[in-house]
Amino acid sequence: MTEVDVAIVGTGFSGLGMAINLKKAGRDDFVLLEKGSDVGGTWHWNTYPGCACDVPSHLYSFSFAPNPEWPETYSKQPEIRKYLERLATDFGIRPKIRTGTTVESAAWDEEAQRWQIETSEGTVTARVVVGGMGPLSEPKTPAIEGLDSFEGETMHSARWHHDYDFKGKRVASIGTGASAIQYVPALQPEVEKLHVFQRTAPWIFPHSNRRITDTERALYRRFPLLQRLNRAGVYAGRELAVIGFVKRPKIMKYVERLAKKHMRDGLGDRTDLIDKVTPDYTIGCKRILPSNKWYPAIAKDNVELVTGSVERVTPRGVVGADGVEREVDVIVFGTGFEVTDIPAAHFIKGRDGVGLDDIWHGSPNALNGATIPGFPNLFMLLGPNTGLGHSSMVYMIESQIAYVMSALDAMDARGAATAEVRPEAVKTYNERIDRQLDGTVWNTGCASWYLDDTGRNATLWPDWTFAFRRRLARFDVASYKLEPAQAREAVTA
Ligand code: NAP
Repeated sequence: MTEVDVAIVGTGFSGLGMAINLKKAGRDDFVLLEKGSDVGGTWHWNTYPGCACDVPSHLYSFSFAPNPEWPETYSKQPEIRKYLERLATDFGIRPKIRTGTTVESAAWDEEAQRWQIETSEGTVTARVVVGGMGPLSEPKTPAIEGLDSFEGETMHSARWHHDYDFKGKRVASIGTGASAIQYVPALQPEVEKLHVFQRTAPWIFPHSNRRITDTERALYRRFPLLQRLNRAGVYAGRELAVIGFVKRPKIMKYVERLAKKHMRDGLGDRTDLIDKVTPDYTIGCKRILPSNKWYPAIAKDNVELVTGSVERVTPRGVVGADGVEREVDVIVFGTGFEVTDIPAAHFIKGRDGVGLDDIWHGSPNALNGATIPGFPNLFMLLGPNTGLGHSSMVYMIESQIAYVMSALDAMDARGAATAEVRPEAVKTYNERIDRQLDGTVWNTGCASWYLDDTGRNATLWPDWTFAFRRRLARFDVASYKLEPAQAREAVTA
């Protein structure tokens, strides 16, 4: 059995960032539990062709670890994974990481005032658990009728089969979200036939990726301030999107015009596709996808865009809403992740053995996307309502890490063994979030994965990101019940 002060689950941006900050603060008694074979989280698991980040790299990286070597303004997955692997080494985190270790359960032990974590490699107990599992970690493959009977190959975008040779194959690709719009253009030139099943048309926007020149890189190396200025400029530019998404959704109509022009330009003489690819909801209601390759790819002769739901799968192919069976060798699922059905909710049990599932009932909520009543000393990173449609999740992660660090300091200063958020604080916070969500573009009537089982947007942060950072800069001790070691009376905040 291992006993640590802090157990961190996951080694993506969240877990690694948390570990680095703990180490910098001299809090050296921690462990990172990682089910994968190496660090990277999302950027370890998602290796599909064309995988890249649609947030500029200068912003999609830690503020404390700028990378002057980014090769492109929007880096590809291998570069981002390399960045995270290098950080784990450079900051001396590797000795704390247990790879190949799957967390099977985490239960609060009332007597010991500690978390008891069962993993595939044995038991770990910890005073504090930080959940850095990421909201997009559990691939979602829809339960389509007949799928089990399919005799060909199947794979999910987040679990790519690199040993499968697509050359000359007949392919069905299901889904047209952020992942599919990246791998479809990469697969199209290789395959004999590609049937793209599109249930809902996405809004696609021009992509401004470009190579970062050697001169620029040399300048960033020599004058780090230049890179920081670039980052600040990207941040400010992206933040302007909040005006359209949250404050004045009506202006999104103008954004739609640009997207429609991009659509016509990209489709060229395939004007027959315009009706099929024109979304029927306000731009921004679902994530806007940047790509200069999507429309040209689906306009190619070997691609068929099949609209509507997938009817069923047969042993030899896929039947679309039109009732036609397309015979294929392989089905690729670009069907996204379990986002609001948070996988961790099934295996975390708080006070009295009550599970996250039992209190959320399919509608996750927390204070500051981090803490939940009945779950003392548990801090989720990128929990409910921390998502963004426009900017860098790394910015949100760093805001939450500062919050956890501040919480640990506040607990120490007050001699508290546990901190548990008060239910009324969570209620007030979420009522405010819901009011803010009311007038946003995400509530203009589209079915998106932002919405949970009850129709509540449990995914996105409905305000400026700097407002989130300001809010989390200091641990709001009054929102918590603190308990001293081995005692049941609360320490007054
Ligand atoms: P996604 O955005 O959730 O898209 C899933 C797609 O699958 C949608 O087109 C959805 O259609 C379709 N789908 C789901 N179930 C289906 C079914 N039963 N039948 C037919 N179609 C079905 O998933 P994703 O593309 O993997 O992206 C997930 C998130 O990952 C993104 O939103 C983004 O946050 C992140 N991501 C980011 C990047 C990046 O560059 N930063 C790249 C990739 C992914 P409907 O629209 O009709 O539901």
